[in-house]
Amino acid sequence: MFDVLIIGGGVSGMSSALMLGSARTQEYAKDKKIGILLHQRSSSLQNAIFNNVLGLKPNTTGASILKNGKKHLKEAYPHVSQIDFEKVLKIEKKLDYIIVYSNKNIYYAKNIIIAVGPKNFNIKGLEKYEELHAHIPPEKNRTQLKNNNYLVENGVYVTGVIAGLRSQFAIALGSGTQVATDIMSLWNNGKPVKVHDSTILR
Ligand SMILES: Cc1cc2nc3c(=O)[nH]c(=O)nc-3n(C[C@H](O)[C@H](O)[C@H](O)COP(=O)(O)OP(=O)(O)OC[C@H]3O[C@@H](n4cnc5c(N)ncnc54)[C@H](O)[C@@H]3O)c2cc1C
Repeated sequence: MFDVLIIGGGVSGMSSALMLGSARTQEYAKDKKIGILLHQRSSSLQNAIFNNVLGLKPNTTGASILKNGKKHLKEAYPHVSQIDFEKVLKIEKKLDYIIVYSNKNIYYAKNIIIAVGPKNFNIKGLEKYEELHAHIPPEKNRTQLKNNNYLVENGVYVTGVIAGLRSQFAIALGSGTQVATDIMSLWNNGKPVKVHDSTILR
């Protein structure tokens, strides 16, 4: 049983994974089992080049971010399980947990973060939350999932463009971090948390 299973290994999903991974030294996150289904083939990053994102060198390719993001996560937070090359087909919500069906396996999780992007969205079990995306031209017929501050329903979170956000790297990145810290705050009995590393010795 995962405490959090992230579905989608693009900008917002990887950002959630890094944030959750970074909490490993905090008491509230001790022993939490975190995983990410890292299907990357349909990521918007595949063909992108970035010149307008703070912290990224001009001409950084999305393909390099996909590759280096996995390495970063593995080296910095190896306790986060990376599950490659699996596509989620269906989710089933139970009272206290969620069953996630991929094309290869079945997983159980207390919380899931849906970070799959809005293109050709096709995960069964979420039909009642689907609506036309508010920030993509309607003729493109893209989906967003209804949510309240990224919460779709108890234990089910959405992040990135599929949450109804504009498609910009920094927006997707920030939303993934927001959702991760929301979950971490719940683990901390509702007390808001953050994880800051510093050059100043404490
Ligand atoms: C060509 C191009 C150029 C761009 N240039 C810029 C730019 O210059 N500046 C800027 O700020 N933004 C740019 N963007 C936008 C930016 O890349 C996106 O806003 C960002 O990638 C969105 O992040 P996301 O997490 O919502 O989705 P994505 O990064 O697309 O990630 C979604 C992930 O979910 C996975 N997935 C999909 N379906 C499933 C499934 N069923 N099961 C499991 N996994 C699944 C995908 O493979 C992918 O890994 C560009 C986008 C494109 C396409």
